[in-house]
Amino acid sequence: MKLKDLGEFNFINRIGRKIKLSGRVIKGIGDDAAVLKYTRDKYLLFTTDMLIEGKHFNEDDKAGLVGAKSLSCNISDIAAMGGVPKFAVCSVGLPDSLDLKYADELYEGIKKIAQRFEVDLVGGDTVCSKKIVINIALIGEVEKENLTLRSGAKGNDIIFITGNIGGSIKFRHLNFTPRFKEARFLVKNFKINSMIDVSDGLLADLGHILKESNKGAAICEKTIPLSKYAAGFDSAVRDGEDFELVFTLSERYADRLENMWPFKTRLSKIGRILNGRKGFTLVRKSEKSERIKPAGFTHF
Ligand code: ADP
Ligand code: MG
Repeated sequence: MKLKDLGEFNFINRIGRKIKLSGRVIKGIGDDAAVLKYTRDKYLLFTTDMLIEGKHFNEDDKAGLVGAKSLSCNISDIAAMGGVPKFAVCSVGLPDSLDLKYADELYEGIKKIAQRFEVDLVGGDTVCSKKIVINIALIGEVEKENLTLRSGAKGNDIIFITGNIGGSIKFRHLNFTPRFKEARFLVKNFKINSMIDVSDGLLADLGHILKESNKGAAICEKTIPLSKYAAGFDSAVRDGEDFELVFTLSERYADRLENMWPFKTRLSKIGRILNGRKGFTLVRKSEKSERIKPAGFTHF
């Protein structure tokens, strides 16, 4: 059997099934970051992401933006847990023929984001490779009461999304702001029942919330905010790398959240969590409902 026959998510589940964890792990594989025992009132968060030339960025993309993205996508995962990023290590594989200027700019990009989000870059590893590879691992922390998992969605919760989705690959995936301040506002002021950042596509990532929470959802086409780069609704909900937050909270608080929202970042109600029916029901602009699969980007 080949990896592509198994699929990325089945492969990851298979790794998870074979690992026995100690009692210090609150949540291992299966969320945006691992959650580990830490202090009396806080958990430690731990996440990593890898970018590969030709896959996540191309030779002619600006090195500074590639560096910025490599840290920003990790910060996005810590934000999706309700947490605060703290310490990063950065490993790079670089061709020995690479221009020093490129390598410098790459690190300038990482440093800019590190400074902006108060992350300390404390180490890494350097190897020679044919293609450029960047892997950052990031530690964060979160007050116990603010921890937000994928698994907490409740029946009748309202589903919200920040920003606009779709077509990110054309430009925005290298130049996005992780929704850190939005996430902290949410967890400090509301009981957010579940949250994820959109890296594989809205349907796939909301699908992770549904699976982990054992729920279904109804979403409305007309309320889903498309970016100007989106090629249309059906591809926008499957495109990856939006790095927006999708979250759910009790309908009792939904109006208050909309009234209190202090950011320029758009906030949209896109649907509702369902107790009974699993999977997605999509209400089209014509008001017709259809069942859809949570497909999105997978690596294989
Ligand atoms: P995200 O898009 O939020 O970064 P992923 O889809 O990459 O999340 O990963 C989902 C979960 O699977 C995470 O908990 C991640 O740590 C875990 N995971 C992914 N790849 C591996 C791997 N090779 N070994 C162990 N865990 C993995
Ligand atoms: Mg994520």
